[in-house]
Amino acid sequence: MRLVIVGGVAAGTKAASRARRLDQRAEITVYQDEPEPSISECGLPYLLSGVVERRDELVARTPEKFAEKGIDVRVRHRVEKVDPEGKKLCVRDLESGEVFEDAYDRLVVATGARAVLPPIPGADLDGLFVLRFLTDADQVRGYTKERSPKRAVVVGGGYIGLEVAENLCRLGMEVSLIEAEDRVALAYGSEVAGRVENRLEDNGVNVHTGAEVEEFVGAGHVESVRFGGREIGADLVVLGVGVRPSVELAKEAGAEIGETGAIRVDRHMKTNLPDVWAAGDCVETVNLVSEKPVWVPLGDTANQMGRVAGTNAVTGEDTLEFPGLLGTGIFKVFDLGVGKTGLSEREAEDAGFETVSAAIETSDRASYYPGAQKVFIKLISDGSSGRLIGAESAGSGADKLTDICATAIWGKLAYPDLVNLDLAYAPPFGPALSPVIQAATVLSGEFERTRRGIRASE
Ligand code: FAD
Repeated sequence: MRLVIVGGVAAGTKAASRARRLDQRAEITVYQDEPEPSISECGLPYLLSGVVERRDELVARTPEKFAEKGIDVRVRHRVEKVDPEGKKLCVRDLESGEVFEDAYDRLVVATGARAVLPPIPGADLDGLFVLRFLTDADQVRGYTKERSPKRAVVVGGGYIGLEVAENLCRLGMEVSLIEAEDRVALAYGSEVAGRVENRLEDNGVNVHTGAEVEEFVGAGHVESVRFGGREIGADLVVLGVGVRPSVELAKEAGAEIGETGAIRVDRHMKTNLPDVWAAGDCVETVNLVSEKPVWVPLGDTANQMGRVAGTNAVTGEDTLEFPGLLGTGIFKVFDLGVGKTGLSEREAEDAGFETVSAAIETSDRASYYPGAQKVFIKLISDGSSGRLIGAESAGSGADKLTDICATAIWGKLAYPDLVNLDLAYAPPFGPALSPVIQAATVLSGEFERTRRGIRASE
């Protein structure tokens, strides 16, 4: 059985490794157009600043390591066409330019996503970069070494833009961040966004919200950025205005594209094409709270989906399922951890929920214990059932709180369950009552005020 995988980062290499583990005899080939497979893209912002010192630390496994496991990884090879009837592929060797045909019995599409390039005048000037692949980071690092830029502009206040802003500051640059919406970290509510903005400003980042970039100005290389009637000097610009699923190959082969613009798959990661599965940032899935199709391009879920796709492709059966996700995510900006799971208030309202929420700021450990810091947490619940449907947190220990809440949402717990959760406590680790329990108690008060107390889930 010949299994071919298109795309060799998180989803593709996970699918390949899983397939190999389950079937020692399958022929497995991965085509990857970038020069390296198995890149930890999540580490790229930290490579820019040197927090991650060596680029090879971000290549989890080389083609040679894959070869030891009997997985043939062909880097710098782009699959240009899939013929699902003939089960054939057209592949271009990007080094030699040679185009050849290959065949498969089963195929996994793991083509991922790519950075959006906004159609702004001057976007083709030197000194403008996106950050998606290791080769992008190489370019930013090369430019920085060669030109020693002093003033950097980051366009986009999503988590990648925020991480980049922090890491350019670490390099001693004067950093400005421009965001078209009225706040950064748009996936979060205004309380968290405000805290993020304050932390940026406290660390010297000039934050401009509600301002669209009109033009990048320069002769050959970027010299300034025009936005909202203003102009600021810039020696380096990093565009972080979003990513888009890479679906063209699958779409041309006849794969169904869902309403989010990503490939539609079933719970077994199967596309509508015979013997073709898809996984990772190129597919859409279901939000388990709203039960609506969503596209959430994240590394952990790409791995989980890759495991399911690799298993089902190699067995040829519906062995594993990927049920959907909550959209749990976390990032750090300077020393502020920011996490989210489930729906924000706005997303919940868009999905038709009437919400009841509670937000508190409390201590991350016993307030008398040295080093105690503040942490914010907001719980969002469904007003009719009391079920937790979302949580946001910012501050020390946001990771722990986000994961507790993700588990609670996954388990369909309601606020009365949360009030009585049995969580670990000792002064160095937390306050006597976890911030989750404290916030759930406030939520309980909100429900009592509206006279609709709800019992713990059965
Ligand atoms: P990709 O990583 O996009 O890989 C797909 C590969 O397939 C690419 O190399 C692409 O070039 C190749 N390809 C596409 N088409 C073809 C073709 N026709 N032929 C051959 N090869 C092809 N996620 C988190 O969960 N947490 C984080 O903290 C986090 N931080 C991030 C920070 C940055 C700067 C970036 C860019 C991403 C971050 N992510 C994070 C997202 C995470 O990296 C992605 O979700 C994950 O890499 C997706 O893996 P994938 O295999 O689906 O797709």
